Amino acid sequence: MVVAAVRVAAADRAPSPATAAAGQSPALPPPDAAVGTGLSRPVRLSTVPSGPAPPAAPEDARTQLTELEAFARQVAGCTRCRLHEGRTQVVFGNGDPDADLMFVGEAPGFHEDKQGVPFVGQAGKLLDKLLAGIGLERSQVFVCNVLKCRPPGNRDPVPDEKEACEPYLFRQVELIRPKVIATLGNHATKQLNGKEIGITRIHGQEQPIVVGSMSVLLYPLYHPAAALYTPAMLKVLEADFARLPELLGRPAAAPEPAAPLLEAIPSAEPTVQLGLF
Ligand code: URA
Repeated sequence: MVVAAVRVAAADRAPSPATAAAGQSPALPPPDAAVGTGLSRPVRLSTVPSGPAPPAAPEDARTQLTELEAFARQVAGCTRCRLHEGRTQVVFGNGDPDADLMFVGEAPGFHEDKQGVPFVGQAGKLLDKLLAGIGLERSQVFVCNVLKCRPPGNRDPVPDEKEACEPYLFRQVELIRPKVIATLGNHATKQLNGKEIGITRIHGQEQPIVVGSMSVLLYPLYHPAAALYTPAMLKVLEADFARLPELLGRPAAAPEPAAPLLEAIPSAEPTVQLGLF
């Protein structure tokens, strides 16, 4: 049963202060309205347009867009870790704020940092090609990274940076409410399933997880940047990608109950005790 599996996955997560905060808005810096958000739709401003009113968007979509946009503005002023010192701008993520499919990469690189948009380099071009192969465009999915700021010299993210940024990713998931999160590479996969299993072992294997208050299907994939230079890996990535339409067509996982059930409450016993059974 999906819900039971989700609970196991949730209990399995390595507890970190940031993980424990999942589902709550992180303590955030003040909004910075002057900074672009990178979202695919324009910011909703409180001006009154002339002419006939446009058809009303569904209430849900309107709320999500507004909240995600406001959230992007808050994150734009982030100083939670050292990476704010060297960045040009926060790369929040972009695409459909109501997407069923969300991609999570590692961190912005040089071009992403300059343009404020994730996956704009060679890896991004491959991502676009893979999306086209399953009949999707970038504007129909949401793309972001574990880290919202570029690490110097494109080095790997380090644990305290990932921990500082984690609440932002979790909040994005809660606001976008995707059915499937495709993680690109090791960093994103480990960040979301809390396990130290390498991408080589688990790519292409979907697993239900809980992110904050959201049940979602995690789908680990090779990182396109790695596949760019390894034809065998590209073949695997293409084959894994081809399963995405089927995963997206599955019924959405039941939302997590607001009040935790008894078995979902973490045991007060030390984790090591569980290994006895
Ligand atoms: N560009 C991104 O935005 N993220 C990556 O992980 C790689 C390239």
